[in-house]
Amino acid sequence: MLTSGEPTHKLAVIVLEGLKRAGLPAIPHNFELWYAHLDGRHPSLSRDIEITTDAFGTVTQDNADALYRTHLQRADLTSGVIDVITRMNAEVADLSDIVEKSGECASGNTKALGGLSNQLRESTKDYPAVGALLESVVNVAKNMRIQNEELEGRLAESANEITTLQRSVENIEAEAMKDPLTGVANRARFDQAIYQCVAEAKISGAPLSMMLADIDHFKGFNDRWGHQTGDQVLRLVAEVMDGNVRADDTLARYGGEEFAILLPGADLEDAKSMAERIRGAVESRRLKKRTTDQNLGTITMSIGVAELQNADSEHTLIERADECLYAAKGAGRNKVIDENSLETPTPSSDVA
Ligand code: GH3
Ligand code: MG
Ligand code: MG
Repeated sequence: MLTSGEPTHKLAVIVLEGLKRAGLPAIPHNFELWYAHLDGRHPSLSRDIEITTDAFGTVTQDNADALYRTHLQRADLTSGVIDVITRMNAEVADLSDIVEKSGECASGNTKALGGLSNQLRESTKDYPAVGALLESVVNVAKNMRIQNEELEGRLAESANEITTLQRSVENIEAEAMKDPLTGVANRARFDQAIYQCVAEAKISGAPLSMMLADIDHFKGFNDRWGHQTGDQVLRLVAEVMDGNVRADDTLARYGGEEFAILLPGADLEDAKSMAERIRGAVESRRLKKRTTDQNLGTITMSIGVAELQNADSEHTLIERADECLYAAKGAGRNKVIDENSLETPTPSSDVA
């Protein structure tokens, strides 16, 4: 895996070497694919590459194209990102060119040196010729150093440009993963995070729980106070929830007035008590219109909680949390229901 501490041109070379080992040409799309694989941020891509390599020994261009389409092609990216990616691809093409030239240049100089040392051996009896030959050796060595320095400089420059572009892509991607209204993660980010969390929990054996939380009677709130005020409440709810999760948790806006939280390391009991805390914190907020100071009353949330089981996929985990949320609505709303208490809902008055 790539580490951020490595100098960038080394990373680029590691990626190029990885491509070579896999039997893939260093064309820009392949470079982007391998970079994504090695930087560890696309576990599903890395898993598919491993499966392909285990089955066939190499990755064909057709395989690579299919992997790129499945894991990296971003149909929803703005033209800004596409522009950055296009520039990055051009840089990668330049970089491959430089690396190739560097090989040619070194081999040219090696040949010249080899020729000179043969002549040197032949002319040991001829003293003045030896002097001239030595001078030539020094010249070739100097030339080689200058060329290497030039190549090294161009390589570093090109790699720097790639890092800058890579960062721009990362920034734009990060923005594309945020919900614009509340600033928390959006559904696309949640889908990515649950995939990663489930895979990690299955490897480590650590617990993983999730919550699905939905604002109660929000349609009525909007109808009464207007959609704009409803938007402000959505922001506030996101803020309250965010203040009650841990750094490793992922809080996302799952849909209109529905939020999801992934809780790696939390078992059902931990998740349930966090859900109760969130439910209580939302319920206790006295809502007020900032501009007029008008009292808007309170709102409540219903929350479903489920913990990952061995046989679960991310889909079945979400399904069970959703079932619990549905049960919480059915039990009168403003309630937390976990999968162990599906039949026997806890009354909300148990929690302050
Ligand atoms: P329940 O307790 O069963 O969840 O009732 P509800 O009214 O919250 O649920 P319903 O699904 O009937 O309505 C959801 C409402 O959420 C309708 C919609 O106006 C509101 N909503 C969804 N997204 C937004 C948004 O981005 N801004 C605002 N202001 N309201 C939204
Ligand atoms: Mg609702
Ligand atoms: Mg809803």
